[in-house]
Amino acid sequence: MKRPLVYMSRCFGFEKCRYDAETVTDEFIESLKSKVDVIHECPETAIGLGCPRSPIRIVRKYGAPVLFQPETGLYFTEKMTEFAKNYAEKLANVDAFILKAKSPSCGAGNVKYYDFMTGMIINEIHTGFFTAEILKRFPDALVTDELLLAIPQERELFLSRLFKD
Ligand code: SF4
Repeated sequence: MKRPLVYMSRCFGFEKCRYDAETVTDEFIESLKSKVDVIHECPETAIGLGCPRSPIRIVRKYGAPVLFQPETGLYFTEKMTEFAKNYAEKLANVDAFILKAKSPSCGAGNVKYYDFMTGMIINEIHTGFFTAEILKRFPDALVTDELLLAIPQERELFLSRLFKD
């Protein structure tokens, strides 16, 4: 049987690449690594954000989402979008994506959205800038994160779809 190809966010135990120079330990994701072929990336370090780094967030400015680093006042919207588009073009035959939940770069539909002027959270959730571009290329891929995979029914469903052949 062909091993599925799974993309994983790099901070799932591959490298201490989070903003606080830490990694994420997840027992299930760790156990899956030996059963699939894995590719991984950290889009924030890939576009030159250091590690550790000041956190970035998705902010609504003039009605549109931008990728913003409050501490420095810098924007990474274009850099991240361009990187993601180029990365997506080179990706082939990915069966599933396991993405770091809530990340403004990697999160899939569960990322906080802030108002630029007030700094308050807007009652609306977003997908991370990197993931949004990647999923345009793979609209039918399995997409999940560590929070969903912590729910037994979600985990079973994910595994049954991933190893369906
Ligand atoms: S969530 Fe994404 S951008 Fe953030 S550390 Fe993990 S791989 Fe890098």
